[in-house]
Amino acid sequence: RAKEAGRGGYAFFESYMFEEAEDNRLLENDVRDALHGDGLRLAYQPIVDARTGEVVGREALLRWRHPTRGEISPELFVPIIEDAGLIHQIGDWVIREACAEASKWDEKFRVAVNVSAAQLPGAGLAKTVLGALANSGLEPSRLELEVTETVFLGDDASTLASLERLRALGVRLVLDDFGKGYSSFGYLSRAHFSKIKIDQTFVRGAAQGEKESIAIVHAILALANGLDVETTAEGVETERQAKVMRDLGCTQLQGFFFGRPVPPESLVGVDRRAVRHLA
Ligand code: C2E
Ligand code: MG
Ligand code: MG
Ligand code: MG
Repeated sequence: RAKEAGRGGYAFFESYMFEEAEDNRLLENDVRDALHGDGLRLAYQPIVDARTGEVVGREALLRWRHPTRGEISPELFVPIIEDAGLIHQIGDWVIREACAEASKWDEKFRVAVNVSAAQLPGAGLAKTVLGALANSGLEPSRLELEVTETVFLGDDASTLASLERLRALGVRLVLDDFGKGYSSFGYLSRAHFSKIKIDQTFVRGAAQGEKESIAIVHAILALANGLDVETTAEGVETERQAKVMRDLGCTQLQGFFFGRPVPPESLVGVDRRAVRHLA
């Protein structure tokens, strides 16, 4: 396309990239402001036991309401935070905030926090986690740290050491979005994970009866069982998807069907009931 348009098309592409970079710089300034104000919040989404439908934990998800643009997706602003070198500061805040919140819940609930690859190298993260646990009084085993396969791409000894250090604190490591990118079964031997989250793509595919998705889910579950690792199906939107993933043998389910991410105020009093009952 751009080639057909000749120089004009090329110029158009360049100015588009420039605008995007400019845009990111503006957002970067705004997110700094948000960090100092109260523009950043966490929302919590339930994770349920696939057999009983009861809540077993909640995932903390970062929310940013921009003063003029409204809600901005973390898919968009987390990379900006990373590029701006703010991920340590914001990531630390997320961990402290989530631990403090979870310490108010019934002890049977875990809290899951997403951690970027950039947060791992070095001893800073373990220090933050230790501090957050101490301040909140949260049992280490109630904290789950979710990482994606991208943590392995750098093949950094420092990253592996960091994962090991975190696990030694007693927190649970979770491999997020499994199967989404270039996920390799080999990653599961690089660190000791307590849980694998099966990407939404396979949940959709399996519920539609797609042979490939079903075969992949079977393989992931066989592996997880062999390794004694729990599994959560992500992005479960329909009852059918919930039943299919449960019947395939997934131990936990998460998705809009069971509950959307909500602000912590909305969690008061909902502790005891099962969100949904599956036939
Ligand atoms: P993730 O960790 O895989 O989180 C799950 C995402 O799927 C969330 O999107 C959640 O709102 C969404 N989701 C849950 N159930 C459903 C469903 O049934 N259908 C659909 N279509 N989506 C569903 P969200 O909150 O926009 O977050 C996107 C990603 O941003 C997260 O993916 C995670 O990678 C990243 N992220 C979010 N919060 C943080 C954070 O505090 N730190 C870091 N480093 N990354 C974060
Ligand atoms: Mg996650
Ligand atoms: Mg995920
Ligand atoms: Mg994701």
